[in-house]
Amino acid sequence: MYYQSTRSDHRASDTAAVLEGIAPDGGLYIDPSLGSRPFDWQGCLRLPPLGMASMILSHLLPGFADMGELVRRAYDGKFDSEELTPLVPVGDDYVLELFHGPTAAFKDVALSMLPQLVTAARGQEGVRDRICILTATSGDTGKAALEGFRDVEGTGILVFFPDAGVSPVQKAQMVTQAGGNVRVCAVRGNFDDCQSGVKRAFAALSGDALPAGSLLSSANSINIGRLAPQVVYYFIAYADLLDRGAITLGEPVDYVVPTGNFGDILAGYFAKLMGLPVGRLVCASNANRVLTDFLETGVYDKRRAFLKTASPSMDILVSSNLERLLFLASAGDTALVADCMKKLNTEGVYRFPEEAMARIREDFAACCCGEESCLETIGRVWRDCGYLCDTHTAVGMYAAQSWKRARGADRRTVVLSTASPFKFPAAVLRAIGGELSGDEFEQMERLAEITKQPIPRGLRGLRERPVLHRDVIDPDEIVDYVRRQLG
Ligand SMILES: *Cc1c(COP(=O)(O)O)cnc(C)c1O
Repeated sequence: MYYQSTRSDHRASDTAAVLEGIAPDGGLYIDPSLGSRPFDWQGCLRLPPLGMASMILSHLLPGFADMGELVRRAYDGKFDSEELTPLVPVGDDYVLELFHGPTAAFKDVALSMLPQLVTAARGQEGVRDRICILTATSGDTGKAALEGFRDVEGTGILVFFPDAGVSPVQKAQMVTQAGGNVRVCAVRGNFDDCQSGVKRAFAALSGDALPAGSLLSSANSINIGRLAPQVVYYFIAYADLLDRGAITLGEPVDYVVPTGNFGDILAGYFAKLMGLPVGRLVCASNANRVLTDFLETGVYDKRRAFLKTASPSMDILVSSNLERLLFLASAGDTALVADCMKKLNTEGVYRFPEEAMARIREDFAACCCGEESCLETIGRVWRDCGYLCDTHTAVGMYAAQSWKRARGADRRTVVLSTASPFKFPAAVLRAIGGELSGDEFEQMERLAEITKQPIPRGLRGLRERPVLHRDVIDPDEIVDYVRRQLG
């Protein structure tokens, strides 16, 4: 098997694809044979979580030697739940808690694994250069990537975040990051400005333009090594439902996914292509409803106001991973994908053919949740079910409810919970009617008192940690900034 670009027939091995992050033509790497290569999904469901992880990752990235060992190193002792991603019944549905890793957001699942993959690929490809990980973050990827890569030999990591676009807790997590190979920089702009700056840096600093001794790679979900580990918890959740007797083997399960860059939900589609009985994947968006509109109309139009919401990690207008779905839904029509991406870049809008949209709608549904509904949902779920969810998860909970109402509630539904409520204490407190005085750190403590739940380990004592990163730049300075860091 091989990986290829979504925009041309450029090919790479899986190890090279992980090292490069993005294809030289700007496309994303994808395995065109995914779905046609056989996978023993039933056998996989009988394994313990880490066994599932190594079987799934070996299928998606077969070129890596000793995946079992890489998986063990990635997860052993890093998560505060033995099940890695526990499934919790809430009302009639199930919530898949993905936030038990070191930084209290779901990105930890993949970003604990990615450094193992990058260093293994570096060894296998015989690369001597230092791998510099460039990352744009809407808040959670940055911290999870910093934790994952800090002091990993042969690597360095550089994170750009929107200065006014992340929560105080997210910002504190990043600017206090220790480690000899880490750097964090704020950008006067939004997430899309950060992401397009990073993409420009990749384009400007490729080939001969790259300082000797360095290679660039990405920790964003444009990197297939970041996406592949996310497939695993769709299987874990399904196995858990089987164990509880909530479903029978083969019964389809709907998954509702709070979505931004379209990485998490695309991993669910990969799981489906590998045989897992996934029913519908419900793409839950916040008020930045560009994906809802796309799934409804076939027109992707980013020419709209960027809204800052209570779920900042989903404040995105350009969802990078959709490109991989376009490739799959058009049966690998790279010319079509390249044309859509070019139009998005130059005109800010493209239309995807109706025939392919119809295929997409067989597997995906979309729902958008406004700001008021988000907070109402947190309050309602807390009052009615005694379950506290964060703002991103609430978008998913709301979408699950609307989706079931629309289609009739006849199917098991799993809502992916992407962050701990303690990461967004102000919004969550407001939603449950708590007292709002003080800063977010005091609010975090108040939330712990009210709910009698402990603050996650990675969020404790944040306020006392020294600030180590103070750089702030404009979006058009990103490329030079990267060049200086490499030089
Ligand atoms: C990143 C993130 C999302 C969105 O995930 P994508 O893979 O970008 O779609 C949702 N919720 C939280 C808390 C996140 O950090």
